[in-house]
Amino acid sequence: MKDALFVSQTAEKGGAELFMLDIIAHGPEGWNGCFFTEGPAERELASLGRQPIVLSGGAGLSGIRREASALKLIGAAGGVISLARALARAASGYRVICANSQKALFVSALASLIMRRPLVWVLHDIITDPAFSANTRRAAVLFANLFASRVVANSKASAEAFIAAGGKGDRVRVVYCGFDPAAHPQGSPEASATLRQRFGLSDAPVLGLFGRLTPWKGQHVLLQALKDLPGVQALIVGSALFGEDAYAAELRTLAETEGLAERVHFAGFQNDVAAIMAGVDLVLHTSTHPEPFGRVVVEGMLAGRPVIATSGGGVNEIVTDGDTGLLVPPSDPAALAVAVRRVLADPALASRLAESGRASAAQRFHIAQTCRDMANALKETG
Ligand code: UDP
Repeated sequence: MKDALFVSQTAEKGGAELFMLDIIAHGPEGWNGCFFTEGPAERELASLGRQPIVLSGGAGLSGIRREASALKLIGAAGGVISLARALARAASGYRVICANSQKALFVSALASLIMRRPLVWVLHDIITDPAFSANTRRAAVLFANLFASRVVANSKASAEAFIAAGGKGDRVRVVYCGFDPAAHPQGSPEASATLRQRFGLSDAPVLGLFGRLTPWKGQHVLLQALKDLPGVQALIVGSALFGEDAYAAELRTLAETEGLAERVHFAGFQNDVAAIMAGVDLVLHTSTHPEPFGRVVVEGMLAGRPVIATSGGGVNEIVTDGDTGLLVPPSDPAALAVAVRRVLADPALASRLAESGRASAAQRFHIAQTCRDMANALKETG
């Protein structure tokens, strides 16, 4: 029997799905992925030589948003049950089912009951965040308490929020996202020249911001800060992955109306974030809410670039302010602009932050350790 099937409702490439791809790619043979819909993450897993499972009929559930009302959730219940049956059939060769998202938790819990196999919830969210409806939060905690043998949280912040929301603390294990440092090229003059050519950038310093275009990732905070940063340009990498196209359009309008269009470059979703990061002068993180983990922060450190991040949530577990990066308060464009100016004006500080950042990230967030920690948590399910 194979060891673990990781189940995701979406096959888009968000942070949670990239985590899942990474641990399956670097973990033991007996780990595989299951998606409720076809998509880029599922295709990437297939390209790695795995045989991901795609459940037909899952697309309807993927469309339910996390702030959905109780009525919508109840309406989705029929779909959940038939999907759970399909999952139970597809997962019959696996010892443990690992739900990689909240929606996957509901389906996987029922499937694990049908199959009488242990369930693990891999928690990638701070579930006390107001973005989650109270109904979704209560249902998720109830399902976890009733059915999950272990809850694997992606940071202490996510773990603490789960416990604060009524989750059983003795079942929680923290497993950080991990990376292969060798897959993250270091910043260099060549990388910088290649980046400028690729995206048509000038010689001015480039601030890189990476992530989904969604209000809480705070791309608008960077645009506001840029008004106080003449002679500096921004490269915004990412797209509206989960239907937030209106915000993406707002950002473009904001750049136009504030006279920033010349200095702001929207690159859309890119598959080679590590290579792009190596070419920027600074990696920024601007989330307005506490980040459950913050993969882009670790990736910026691994690129050997100075990182300026918003404090809160998992980011405070990654960055030591003034040592491995700089932290600024959320939604504070003025503080962000001050921090950017400080680093750009002081090359010695920039190199010191970049060097300690890379060393710390490579040591603390290695994919091999992540796979070991996950394997240990899975072993505890019996
Ligand atoms: N990412 C990507 N292409 C893009 C933008 C982002 O591959 O155009 C990746 C990024 O490198 C990171 C992940 O998406 O690994 C985002 O993870 P994070 O934890 O920062 O945020 P989440 O999406 O989980 O909220």
